[in-house]
Amino acid sequence: MNNKRPGFGFSTRAIHHGYDPKDHHGALVPPIYLSATFAFPTAEYGAACFAGEASGHFYTRISNPTLALLESRMAALENGEAAVAFSSGMGAIAATFWTLLRPDDEVIVSQTLYGCTFALLHGIGEFGIKVRHVDLTDLAALQTALGPATRMIYCETPANPTLRLVDIAAVARLAHQQPNVTVVVDNTYCTPYLQRPLELGADVVVHSATKYLSGHGDITAGIAVSSHAIAQRIRLQGLKDLTGAVMSPQDAALLMRGLKTLALRMDRHCSNAQAVAEALQAHPAVQWVTYPGLASFPQYELAARQMKRSGGMIAFELKGGIDTGRRFMNALKLFTRAVSLGDAESLAQHPASMTHSTYTPEERAQHGISEGLVRLSVGLEDVADLLADVQQALGKCARAVARPTLLAAHAVK
Ligand SMILES: *Cc1c(COP(=O)(O)O)cnc(C)c1O
Repeated sequence: MNNKRPGFGFSTRAIHHGYDPKDHHGALVPPIYLSATFAFPTAEYGAACFAGEASGHFYTRISNPTLALLESRMAALENGEAAVAFSSGMGAIAATFWTLLRPDDEVIVSQTLYGCTFALLHGIGEFGIKVRHVDLTDLAALQTALGPATRMIYCETPANPTLRLVDIAAVARLAHQQPNVTVVVDNTYCTPYLQRPLELGADVVVHSATKYLSGHGDITAGIAVSSHAIAQRIRLQGLKDLTGAVMSPQDAALLMRGLKTLALRMDRHCSNAQAVAEALQAHPAVQWVTYPGLASFPQYELAARQMKRSGGMIAFELKGGIDTGRRFMNALKLFTRAVSLGDAESLAQHPASMTHSTYTPEERAQHGISEGLVRLSVGLEDVADLLADVQQALGKCARAVARPTLLAAHAVK
């Protein structure tokens, strides 16, 4: 399918965009170009490539035909002009920061972020970039925090692991009242099938493509999507010189395979997660459950406006806190105890001791990550099997919670 034919739906673009078999010996599946380097027809042409005067692939850390196809497909799905592929989500995020920020610049970030992004912010702080954590659901607080040195606003929505949302359109409107402020959104939890931040006014979207985009847990990968101008800067500074975190062409092929089923998978993740969230909410052992598809979700209206569906991630806490949470996790038989998310397999993990152990306990309290929070990535299995697993594990917790209460009642008598 030719790039010049607009108007195709999301899945059609995810399967065909940028590729026509007739240009590749009829091969239905795009070939993988493994080559690290590319021949110059003349010395002059090689020099022109390096000077940026000729377009053409010359070294895979900078560009490669397989990566270019993936990048054009991701740009088409996010409705951006261009994309840059990385070897991991952290590669994409670090390259974006290093490209767009300089010493004495300020970056405003939302309260809750993925643990390694939080750690990266400490890292860039040591290089003289000022980081301000602001509750971005409070637009007055954002207005106050914005200053002449502000160069970037960075957020996750929904945030990992609390699922707090940021109103992207409102934040972008405020940010863009000032020149030179770039709004960057980590869209890992939603994917462009559920949410497209660039359409809402953001300037850059970053992804851990390790998660839903690839969908099969067999690669680590990252993507940044933006305008041509920003993508070119991220490619020539953040990727080429500052991180070198380039995606391998084999991983790009696996990622394109994952993208073909993205819409189907996301719909199944959403319906399975909705059922699991409702079961958790109805269970007496559960203290609270956060899922954007529950009417009890504090930002339910924003979720409905900003996201097509509610996603596959759930955060909850059991009565009895993390001790009961560990009992629940250890009782699971079908859910796997593992970090990461967005795989076909359902996963359970404990952020305070795993993905978000980069925060101190005080920082977790300050940033809204409770010690007892258990995170579920609801996979693609049969929903009846998932519900049965959650119910049997909760049954063990309910008994554990009930027992001390009974003993206490006894003691009073
Ligand atoms: C996993 C994750 C990342 C980091 O991505 P990697 O591919 O593991 O480097 C960044 N942001 C979010 C929201 C994530 O879940």
